[in-house]
Amino acid sequence: LILYGKEVADKLSEEIIEEVKKIKEKGIEPKLAIVRVGRNESDLSYERGAIKRAEKLGIKVEVVELQEDIKTSDLVECLERINNDIYIHGILLFRPLPKHIDENTIKNSINPIKDIDCINPINVAKVMEGDKTGFAPCTPSAVIEILNHYNIDLKGKNVVVVGRSMVVGKPLSMLLLNEDATVTVCHSKTKNLKEITKKADILIVAIGRAKYINREYVNNKTILIDVGINVDSVGNLCGDVDFEDVKDIVSDITPVPGGVGAVTNTVLFKNLIKACKLQTE
Ligand code: NAP
Repeated sequence: LILYGKEVADKLSEEIIEEVKKIKEKGIEPKLAIVRVGRNESDLSYERGAIKRAEKLGIKVEVVELQEDIKTSDLVECLERINNDIYIHGILLFRPLPKHIDENTIKNSINPIKDIDCINPINVAKVMEGDKTGFAPCTPSAVIEILNHYNIDLKGKNVVVVGRSMVVGKPLSMLLLNEDATVTVCHSKTKNLKEITKKADILIVAIGRAKYINREYVNNKTILIDVGINVDSVGNLCGDVDFEDVKDIVSDITPVPGGVGAVTNTVLFKNLIKACKLQTE
């Protein structure tokens, strides 16, 4: 079975639209602030997608574009303005930030209650604790949404996550653990990766290497979730999995594009609605 992200995103969108209606009936307009430093092409492309999605959901977006050479203190000031703006309920700050900016200071400058992409360490800690009052990062949450949508039970399952970044692998491992999965986390220093991945009930790959995972890493029962977004040698988008090589072998697989990436920005708005309710109820 091909696990399409669009189906999941459409379902989530319906739920969000309902929530937005209820919030608007109370005279509140849910609003996201996108804070972008510089004009990185992948940030711009994500931003365009988010604006389009927000329009469909009836959510307002304010884009704050800042100069590449902005000082840490000025960025903090900008975030504080947004923290104090009662008409803005969530903040998306694109990272990585330029090297001269002190990322630690910035992380702590976003009010945790508006931190809908889990940058502030307080929200990271809540993910660790399984405390659902916080915000989990969007990409790992999108993976969980896909598994839930397709009724893939996690309890007691042997789940292997390849990748341990703070954006995907590590928080995802915690979310899976919170769902009672038995989780193995692999990374670039893991020995015998193939032997470990072959034994997984569910294999989730977030390594950032085009088509790296092929038929040698899977078995015929593997449920394969590909988080990777890469450009292949001829310029097409592809995942970390060699889709053509494994698709007829594994039990289920997410495509790229059209898999996890298609759900990520909908999850951002799901978190925005949660933030809006927390701030206004
Ligand atoms: P990252 O920060 O570069 O982390 C990559 C991780 O993979 C690291 O933990 C690294 O191990 C591990 N790794 C690299 N090569 C490996 C190998 N050969 N074998 C085993 N592990 C290996 O990347 P990221 O930010 O997590 O992103 C991962 C992928 O997801 C990228 O393709 C990115 O574009 C994509 N992504 C997608 C979305 C979405 O919405 N779908 C969102 C964010 C990211 P070490 O820790 O040992 O270095």
